Amino acid sequence: MPQVTSPVITIARGDGIGGEIMDATMQILKAAGAQLHYEEIQIGEGVYRQGVLSGIAPEAWDILRQNRVFLKSPITTPQGGGYKSLNVTMRKAMGLYANVRPCKAYTPFVSSHFPKMDLVIIRENEEDLYAGIEHQQTAEVIQCLKLVSRPGCERVVRYAFEYARAYGRCKVTCMTKDNIMKLTDGLFRQVFNEIAQEYPDLETEHYIIDIGSALIAERPEQFDVIVTLNLYGDIISDIAAQVCGSVGLCGSANIGPDFAMFEAIHGSAPDIAGKDLANPSGLIQAACMMLVHLGQPAVAEKIANALLKTLEDGIHTADIYSESFTKQRVGTQAFTQAVIARLGQPPAQLPPVFYHTENKMRLPSVLPPATPITKRLVGVDVFLDWNKEQRNPNSLGAAMEAAAGPEFKLKMITNRGVKVYPDGFPETFCTDHWRCRFVGINSNIAPGQDGLSHVEPIGHSNIVSLLTRIQTQDFDFIKTENLYEINGKRAYSLGQGE
Ligand code: NAD
Repeated sequence: MPQVTSPVITIARGDGIGGEIMDATMQILKAAGAQLHYEEIQIGEGVYRQGVLSGIAPEAWDILRQNRVFLKSPITTPQGGGYKSLNVTMRKAMGLYANVRPCKAYTPFVSSHFPKMDLVIIRENEEDLYAGIEHQQTAEVIQCLKLVSRPGCERVVRYAFEYARAYGRCKVTCMTKDNIMKLTDGLFRQVFNEIAQEYPDLETEHYIIDIGSALIAERPEQFDVIVTLNLYGDIISDIAAQVCGSVGLCGSANIGPDFAMFEAIHGSAPDIAGKDLANPSGLIQAACMMLVHLGQPAVAEKIANALLKTLEDGIHTADIYSESFTKQRVGTQAFTQAVIARLGQPPAQLPPVFYHTENKMRLPSVLPPATPITKRLVGVDVFLDWNKEQRNPNSLGAAMEAAAGPEFKLKMITNRGVKVYPDGFPETFCTDHWRCRFVGINSNIAPGQDGLSHVEPIGHSNIVSLLTRIQTQDFDFIKTENLYEINGKRAYSLGQGE
């Protein structure tokens, strides 16, 4: 037998049913022979109420940092009051870039229309619209920045491929909206295509997220491992959990290079707290994922199979009760004892869990250095808050033509991305938020062209002069975005109609 060391992990009992399901999980871990020591921290409602907006006590960070693995019960997030989501804080602060959520049907013991459903969603966890950078810029318009980085894409996509290999999966599906967000989602898909070349043993495919979501709801059995961006992953993982019929049974892992956090996917269920009604399976599944992460897959298998045997034997908590399959409706404690009594027994009808241990995931600890790029400044988008002259784009166009000066020409004006000057449609609704695209005076940007040539570069000082002229005309510029050519190609989107 290989020597197993006993790591110290951090635990938090959270709020609502959190304490009950954590007690249940720890009893099972102990009975199964998990080699673990525990250190507890306080998170959640009590901490929020003390005025700590992150929901985690400052001293708890040191414990988390030291132990590196965190088993977390759900918490109650108070409404309003500027409280930050603890989960989002944890993911970003600890670099937990991959959210892993297996969704598997346990029919007929837990009802689902898709008995063969067995997919894993791997969601990018730190970027995208969850960067949380929002600004109100005019009376009418608020923006939320979608940030997608190459290292961010590379880490999560590689994780998905490594996960697929390590867990004996056959196919990795990428989901994006790159038909609309050609640069951000386009980068995610491009990185997926590049990394896929290194895994010729795995089948790959791509779906646009809208049809992909519809297929998860209608034919989830066709998917194996899905990798996607943060917002899409958030939405499809709930769809998948719902259609596999076992929301209360699902666990999730949040993985980073140095830290990992494991939890059930459900919330703190205050309506049933303290009543011995909670189903502890979600946190038990999360604990199994944690044991695999810690190199104790045999213990994880023992627990996961005992859980399946318990479900098969018809010992069910109220949330998964069914007239046909429940033999004994039990509370949290009795369910826990039933799982403990079945440790070492495989399920008879459901396929037993087997963690492929011979294939360790190979993830680079350091990302390769960024490939150098050639970047040329070729223009600037100036955004204005403008609500005068009946919002007539032609009036604004005339003023901006005059402001363009000797270095720039006004290429177009858009409103919410649609070109309204020159030659806009009178039907287009205009808000008070305008984008004026200025390009270097000698540029010959042709609409629809991908490559640019003979573009006269401009400098930052030209932009400062342009803004000064705009300000002199008493316009309120609310932000600028530089237009770059990168490696000789346009590195910004065209306006609709440009
Ligand atoms: P919830 O998941 O707590 O509860 C939804 C319903 O499912 C309730 O009827 C509840 O009784 C039931 N339920 C949930 N888990 C169960 C279990 N293990 N066994 C049996 N029944 C279970 O969602 P909610 O009511 O929307 O949220 C309650 C609180 O939890 C909110 O404050 C929310 O912010 C928080 N929350 C926390 C997390 C987290 O910490 N990861 C996740 C989601 C929600």
